[in-house]
Amino acid sequence: MKRPYYSFSEYMRNRFQARVQRISVNAGFSCPNRDGTLGEDGCFFCNEKGFSRFVETPLSLKEQIEASREFYRERFHADKFIVYFQNAANTNAGLEQLRSAYDVIRDFPDVVGLFISTRPDCVDDEKLDLIAAYAREYEVWLEYGLQSIHEKTLQAINRRHSLAHFLRAVEDTAKRGIKSSAHVILGLPGETREDMIETAKTLAELPVSGVKLHVFHVLRETRFHEMYKAGGVRVPTQEEYVQLACDFLEHLPPDCVIMRLISNASEDVLVGPEWINQKQKVLSAIDAEFKRRGTEQGTRIAVSRQSKE
Ligand code: SF4
Repeated sequence: MKRPYYSFSEYMRNRFQARVQRISVNAGFSCPNRDGTLGEDGCFFCNEKGFSRFVETPLSLKEQIEASREFYRERFHADKFIVYFQNAANTNAGLEQLRSAYDVIRDFPDVVGLFISTRPDCVDDEKLDLIAAYAREYEVWLEYGLQSIHEKTLQAINRRHSLAHFLRAVEDTAKRGIKSSAHVILGLPGETREDMIETAKTLAELPVSGVKLHVFHVLRETRFHEMYKAGGVRVPTQEEYVQLACDFLEHLPPDCVIMRLISNASEDVLVGPEWINQKQKVLSAIDAEFKRRGTEQGTRIAVSRQSKE
């Protein structure tokens, strides 16, 4: 079924004409917002146990890939794979350590891509040059955690980087022919609908190839959990999120790949909202809302460009 947005699975089908599955791995890199370089308390929403299959794993990178590969082959008949360095900041190490970690993909002929999740203040010219070398042979994406373009929000969620870091990282990445994407959280405390649309509009003007959306949710053992218990923050309802997601996508270019539309979280650590784990229901509600509006990804870009003319 044709979605009213450019889904990651559609992008992958167009690119590889095969079923490509992403395999998340934990290379054991640290995050400067946790290891004391910038701070120790981390972003107020972050708990790795919420999303990672390999938190504190004893398995080597190669073993993690082998385990997931077998699983996805059997369960989903996957033909090809992308290795996704997911946990913490996956460019937060010396060049040789990074090279040695990324080189694991060379052991698997059916791995066609390398995806690296990191902070925008954790890349420099040497690291990007290293990653660019893989981009000559593989599908390579750098996924930058941004969450919001608004400095007040970045401070309120304790990111300890600025929009300027993101803008520089995205330009330097694009210059080398590497694709990048932005992680954005919709529904963060203190943000209005207009604030979120401003984030979409800014991304639409940048050389960003994809966006990964998350709904604001609260996990145990986070600062937001403390605030939530004290009644200081609330989480969006499904209906609110559906509206926000459609508003956001309407302001993104039609060729921007939507790498994810709804986050899920391990039930052991999820405080709320519980509906985020009903992915298909949320995706159907987003499709239905686009249909009701008669819009799709990119609709508002055309409208605002026409009104400027
Ligand atoms: S969200 Fe990313 S940058 Fe923030 S503390 Fe967690 S790993 Fe670090």
